[in-house]
Amino acid sequence: MFAATAFLVCLQALTASPRPVTAAQSGTSTKDRAQAEYRGFRLLQGTCNVADLTCHQRGPRSWKRREIESLHTAIDDVLQRPLGPAVVRESQRHGAGVLQRDTLGTENDGTISHIVNAAFHSPSGGRSFIEMTDRFFEKGGQRDKRAQYLLQTRIFLHELFHAIDDHGERFSMVNDEFASLIGLVHTDNGWRRINVTESEEQIQYDVANRIKQLLTKNQYEDAWNTGRVYATRPEIALPSMRALDSPAEAFAEIGAHLLLDPAVATYLKPQVIDYFRDRVFPTFAAARTPGL
Ligand SMILES: [Zn+2]
Repeated sequence: MFAATAFLVCLQALTASPRPVTAAQSGTSTKDRAQAEYRGFRLLQGTCNVADLTCHQRGPRSWKRREIESLHTAIDDVLQRPLGPAVVRESQRHGAGVLQRDTLGTENDGTISHIVNAAFHSPSGGRSFIEMTDRFFEKGGQRDKRAQYLLQTRIFLHELFHAIDDHGERFSMVNDEFASLIGLVHTDNGWRRINVTESEEQIQYDVANRIKQLLTKNQYEDAWNTGRVYATRPEIALPSMRALDSPAEAFAEIGAHLLLDPAVATYLKPQVIDYFRDRVFPTFAAARTPGL
């Protein structure tokens, strides 16, 4: 377990004396009708820009008190983790500081979906935000069976890592390096596991279908844990089913689990942990130098 211990020491070094996270950007919030601000995040009610044709399908709405409370819990949970304050600060530097409430969410390809819990958007020419949907709030109190973290914390942290990665444009998809580290290759049919056999692919397809069925029955916890059991097998070595979708999804899932799962080194490949330790997290420390 030397690798895991060394990794945690590294995390603690990075989290030492972080600059406190404050609600600093309030001066820009008036025109957006800010409803609340917490630890540097501004909670805005969803609004529609006339040029955004799909906006009404997403169903912008205001925040309920209970929703704000559960989001505060997720934010505080992240901040308590090793590296949590640095991740929050870095994600806000990359556009995650605005949280918007919509009924439904948007998939990476732009389709409106009932399954999306949250999504980071960085429209060209517009301000970035994280969309938080009804699905997210339906998961209150549900936990990962293996590491006992709250699913809402994992979902929120996943979006913070998308912001840090700028949807793959900073780390995970700038070239093939990260994809090959995690064992994914791009084909005409999207991202697949490198050298996967047909029978293995069939098993993956069956697991994905079982998860979909559980989701349609609103059995979120079972759906989540089914994917965890499958993806953490040694031949896959990823935190979750979602990580198999693309390098950007894997980046967000791995980043989240490095903070949330103390046993992460038992299933991730050492070179994947090294990638975050050597290439991703040091950029956070650089951001702390005065003047940046
Ligand atoms: Zn994602």
